[in-house]
Amino acid sequence: MTLVEVAPASVLAPNYHPLPVTLVDGLGSWVTDDAGRHYLDLLSGYSALNFGHRHPVLTAAAHAQIDKLTLTSRAFDHELLEPFAARLAALIGPLVAGPPMVLPMNTGAEAVETAIKAARKWGYDVKGVPADRATILVADGNFHGRTTTIVSFSTDPDARRGFGPYTPGFRVVPYGSVEALRDAIDETTVAVLLEPIQGEQGVVVPPVDYLPGVRALCSEHDVLFIADEIQSGLGRTGTTLASELWGVKPDLVTLGKALGGGVLPVSAVVGRADVLGVLTAGTHGSTFGGNPLACAVGLAVVGLLETGELQARATTLGIEWGARLDALVDAGLLASSRRVGLWAGLDVAEGRGTGRQLCERLLARGVLAKDTHGSTIRLAPPLTISTEDLHLATDRLTDALR
Ligand SMILES: *Cc1c(COP(=O)(O)O)cnc(C)c1O
Repeated sequence: MTLVEVAPASVLAPNYHPLPVTLVDGLGSWVTDDAGRHYLDLLSGYSALNFGHRHPVLTAAAHAQIDKLTLTSRAFDHELLEPFAARLAALIGPLVAGPPMVLPMNTGAEAVETAIKAARKWGYDVKGVPADRATILVADGNFHGRTTTIVSFSTDPDARRGFGPYTPGFRVVPYGSVEALRDAIDETTVAVLLEPIQGEQGVVVPPVDYLPGVRALCSEHDVLFIADEIQSGLGRTGTTLASELWGVKPDLVTLGKALGGGVLPVSAVVGRADVLGVLTAGTHGSTFGGNPLACAVGLAVVGLLETGELQARATTLGIEWGARLDALVDAGLLASSRRVGLWAGLDVAEGRGTGRQLCERLLARGVLAKDTHGSTIRLAPPLTISTEDLHLATDRLTDALR
């Protein structure tokens, strides 16, 4: 009889393929694994950790609130709900079209679902679209989350295949083409839902006239422009919202990831009061949305962004970093590099391995990053990273590519 050694099976559902590292500790831009090795975190929880690990202002806000009141449900009010909404509206309101309202949720996908529901209801109640006929235009290569409705309009086969039947009411058009949107718009169209920069797709920046063109087209046809800023927003691009880079004001903005400061999930839809105002009591909600702990951390996050210092830093440090990334392209180590603020999508040059292999080589050199598609990796260092640490990480990237 032969005994076959079988590795102990994990009870964890296999819906992720993580890099082989087990983290136990984090502070600022650095994390430590279970063997005491240190790594620079250039993924930042897909931009949920824009302020780094355990930012003292954020952990202090969380600790204080944990010892006071953590959950009420929206059945009752609590003392931080209105202040959180007001401060977030003051930060984001000037960047959206029209007087703002705030609707707090938890995860990014929930914020996107909320925006979709608000747009549909606005379409029926205000625009006068016939019942159950509303359409929303979305872009090829999009990433808006993982719910059944959201994967219904994903163009990534892994994300979509096997999860039907799909939610109707979405039309996918090529990203970057205003003409394609113009051709797809009809009297049933209530919204265009887009990422101003496609993060998951590898930090894909659209042509310079795209977002202004989308804005004009939406205004012309009384269609809502919904910008999904869950990954691109809150300082990542050197501006509070990526939409600002083109001077464009969306009707609705979805925020998430960094809004929770890397402490807990906090998301929100911020946008036109006449649109979010259609969601009356009983039509939408969430047990945890806007909870006291989330509001305490969210308020502290808004406080970190109000001065504009982090955004300005992302711009200036980003330019310095971008020059070094461009040099890697010139040296033939990268096929191309796209960078906005402290956000970069890098395509590994042919013959230098896959994105996954590069991430494994980075891991061995004390840098955490994650591939997105094939030969592409996305880097998003904490906005608080020191200049020295960013250069150190870039030295290690250079070494890993050689
Ligand atoms: C991450 C992300 C989401 C989904 O957020 P979750 O919190 O994972 O649900 C939606 N849109 C964009 C652009 C994202 O990057």
